[in-house]
Amino acid sequence: MGEKIDWGNLGFGYYKTDYRYVSNYKDGKWDAGILTKDDTVVISECACVLQYAQTCFEGLKAYRTKDNRVVCFRPDLNAKRMADTAKRLEMPPFPEERFLDAVKQVVKANIDWVPPYGSGATLYIRPYLFGTNPVMGVKPATEYQFRVFVSPVGPYFKGGVKPITLRIPDFDRAAPRGTGHVKAGLNYAMSLHAIVDAHNQGYNENMYLDSATRTKIEETGGANIIFVTKDNEVVTPKSNTILPSITRRSLMYVAEHYLGLKATEREVYLEELGEFKECALCGTAAVLSPVGKVDDHGKEILFPSGMEKSGDITQKLYKILTGIQMGEIEPPKGWIFEID
Ligand SMILES: *Cc1c(COP(=O)(O)O)cnc(C)c1O
Repeated sequence: MGEKIDWGNLGFGYYKTDYRYVSNYKDGKWDAGILTKDDTVVISECACVLQYAQTCFEGLKAYRTKDNRVVCFRPDLNAKRMADTAKRLEMPPFPEERFLDAVKQVVKANIDWVPPYGSGATLYIRPYLFGTNPVMGVKPATEYQFRVFVSPVGPYFKGGVKPITLRIPDFDRAAPRGTGHVKAGLNYAMSLHAIVDAHNQGYNENMYLDSATRTKIEETGGANIIFVTKDNEVVTPKSNTILPSITRRSLMYVAEHYLGLKATEREVYLEELGEFKECALCGTAAVLSPVGKVDDHGKEILFPSGMEKSGDITQKLYKILTGIQMGEIEPPKGWIFEID
C-alpha cells in the first residue's frame, strides 16, 4: 500500500497500484466497465494494436490539496482530446462523461496511493485505448479495450528545476498532414530512436522543427514549449502538427489573467531562438521545466536565464499553476475536478 513509499524520492516510473478500470467494445458498443485487480492484458497475438499500433493514450494527474481534498486538473480536456485522437485512428471514442467517471472510480479505488500534499509527488493517471481483435489486412479493429491505471510519480526530469539542454535533431516528429496533433502511441514509437540518440549525445530532449520547412520550432517528443521575450511576452509556437497540451493552454491563460502578461501563440522561427530570455517545456508529466540551452548542430544558444536556475517568469508561471492544482490559489471556473 501507499504508506510504504518514500514520496520525496519517487522518480517518474510505474508502480503497480491496487485497482484499474477496464471496459471492452464489441458489436458496436461499450460494455458497463469494471474495476479489477488484474494488471495484465490478454489479447490475440494478431490484435490490431500489436500489428499496426492502433492505440492512443492520455495522461493526467490527481493532486492532494492543501486542505486534503483529492482533485484532478481539467480532465474534461483529456476526455475530449482522447475522443479526437480515437476518431483520427478510426477507433470508437470512449464517451467523454464515462471517461471522467472512470478516472474518478480508479482514483477513489486507489486513494491511499495519492501522495500527500507538499511531498512533490502526485498520482499519474493513464487512460488508454487499443484495438484487440485479430486483424490481418491493414484495417481498423472491430473490438477495443479502454483501460485506466494509476501510478504515484515524482518529477519527470531528475534534478528538479535544474535547467535542461535540448538539441535540434535531424529527425522529424510529425508530417504536415499526419498525426502530430493527436496523442497516438505511434508518435512515441517513432520518437524512441531520436530520444535515445539525444541521450547518448548528452542532451535531455529533442527540440523538433516543422518537417515541411525545418525553419520553425514545434515541440519536444512529449512536451510543448513556451518562450519569454525580453519584454516579458509569453510566446508559444503555433502549428497544426503540435499536440495541443492542456498544461500549455493553461499556462498561457495564467500568463495573461494572473500575471497580466501578453500571451501569444504564433509561428516561432529557429532563427529567433537567441532573442528569447527564457524557455521552458510544459506538459502534465514535466509541468514546467526550464530549458537553459539549445544546441543546433554545434551552435549553442544559451538563454539569459542560464543553466543554474529557472527564469523569473517561468518560475512565476510554475508557482501559480501548481498553486491552482494544489488548492492554494483560486482556480478559474471549471479547472478543478473533485474526486473525493
Ligand atoms: C501529452 C503531450 C504533451 C503534453 O500535453 P499535456 O496535456 O499538457 O499533458 C505535449 N506534447 C506531446 C507530444 C504530448 O504527447
